[in-house]
Amino acid sequence: MKRRIKWLVTSWKGRSLVACMVVILGCWAWWFNEHRTETIQQAISPGYWIARWEGNDLYYPKTAYLAHGNRALREVALTFDDGPHPESLPSILATLTKNHIHATFFDVGENMAKWPWLVKETLADGDIIGDHSSTHLRFPKLSPLELHHEINDADITFCRITGQHMYLLRPPGVDISGKVQQTIKSEGYITVGYTDASRDYDLKVSPTFIADRTLDRVDNGAIILLHDYPDTARALPEIVRELKERGYKMVTIPQMIAHLPLKARIPATHFLAAQQDPTIASPFASAEATPEQAVSR
Ligand SMILES: [Zn+2]
Repeated sequence: MKRRIKWLVTSWKGRSLVACMVVILGCWAWWFNEHRTETIQQAISPGYWIARWEGNDLYYPKTAYLAHGNRALREVALTFDDGPHPESLPSILATLTKNHIHATFFDVGENMAKWPWLVKETLADGDIIGDHSSTHLRFPKLSPLELHHEINDADITFCRITGQHMYLLRPPGVDISGKVQQTIKSEGYITVGYTDASRDYDLKVSPTFIADRTLDRVDNGAIILLHDYPDTARALPEIVRELKERGYKMVTIPQMIAHLPLKARIPATHFLAAQQDPTIASPFASAEATPEQAVSR
């Protein structure tokens, strides 16, 4: 063994072999990072792969956390954080309407208060709005009272504008701890994660980069994280065109929840039903998966 290691380190053949292996490993790591549909932590976690094999990796009832849509359906959910913004939202809504699709927007309370007509326009177009906090503070740094206000002040603003309440939430920066997740659940929300981030929060990247990055990491049941920003609005027509070309149906988060496999769908819809006013029709009533959406694994 020692002789082999010595040969690898001292001989030119051994060094060349090591160099080749480093280059191959580097290329594989680059390719994996560009095209991966799991986070690095998930990729190296045996617990994640066991949960995935058991089909327990989509919705976590203990924390009311939606991590992924149904992997057997050719559908994805477009989600837009941080709005509403007058510079980008009208263009995003126009692209969605033109393509007869709907998306889910995680809006910030102080932006809703500034531009309430954009909130109304979003709902009038048939899109869904979820809570993205009142002032976009990172949740794990807040005291319990501050966290309560960040979540509920945004909902009060939304209710003043629309007369409705929100029941989906994405924490700012998707920055979350176990304690925060429990608080969000006890406040009555489902937390919505993401599987495919375009890095459009980096304002230096181009619309082409945003589109390419999004499309590189998409898979069945992907929750695509975008932002209500001008360059994302510019990238959106290409993202939608290519997703349609690849046969993906674009759905809202409530539709994605209603299309989960039965095992995950039942706890998710039960949780949501408990948050809904019984006089309001369930958003899941007509959202069952249709046979033509089912694809073979
Ligand atoms: Zn955000």
